[in-house]
Amino acid sequence: MPHFFVSPKDIKGNEVLITGNEAKHIITVLRKREGDKIDIFDGNGNEFRVRILEIDRSAGLPRVKAEIITQKRRETEPKLKITLFQSIPKGNRLDFVIQKSTEIGISEIVPITTERTIVRLDCKRIKQRVLRWQKIAREAAKQSRRSAIPKVCPVLDFSQALKEFSAKKPWMGIIAWEMEEKNHLRKVLRSSVGGGISRLPLAIFIGPEGGFTPEEVEEARRAGVVPVSLGSRILRSETAGLVVAIVALYESRDLG
Ligand code: SAM
Repeated sequence: MPHFFVSPKDIKGNEVLITGNEAKHIITVLRKREGDKIDIFDGNGNEFRVRILEIDRSAGLPRVKAEIITQKRRETEPKLKITLFQSIPKGNRLDFVIQKSTEIGISEIVPITTERTIVRLDCKRIKQRVLRWQKIAREAAKQSRRSAIPKVCPVLDFSQALKEFSAKKPWMGIIAWEMEEKNHLRKVLRSSVGGGISRLPLAIFIGPEGGFTPEEVEEARRAGVVPVSLGSRILRSETAGLVVAIVALYESRDLG
């Protein structure tokens, strides 16, 4: 059965009001009628089976009113909460990262700019992009039947991102750095995620095409973020964060 998100504020007592694109999809694509049943999610882990009471086809303002038949908790969210601080790669590659990291189970994505980030966006374009990325996360969450939509945060520069990390402590932070020789991903994760503290949130910092500068890695180290190697091959920026997230979720016994 298709899966729709509604904002918790649109659920009042036993009734739900579905508007916007979700309503349009129900009416024009699925051609649902009064009396049909659909499943909806409130983005907070609650799933409802509802019966359509009323369909309003007004152009531009389609609305579907429905009554709740059953309600249950749907636990699709990983226990390990992951925030991906991802340097914005060239072109539309962040779209891919957001879509795939949502499917995998990441909780939050923070696009960042670093010294060597090639993409530079003005304020207006940043706002448009963030809206588009939020839409991609929402669609991917629907597609993979997640009960929560990952948060796509406003763009931060690297120092602001580290401040955010420090403010939210305690959590485990790793920065993927291809020059790191001592700390390897498996070792670092096994001493934390797999070692019984899987509820500690994980922050992953991924650099741009040109990598992080040694100064940035040092700044991260001072903030308590551990530099890690992902092995002998160099991964593209849009691959690296996904790989770390998959391995971390696997080590926390979520994936697989
Ligand atoms: N400047 C680097 C070079 O050409 O050697 C490559 C940077 S890589 C394309 C982009 C980002 O992915 C890096 O900043 C790092 O965060 C991550 N990354 C890719 N491969 C990695 C590896 N083997 N170990 C650690 N981090 C890696």
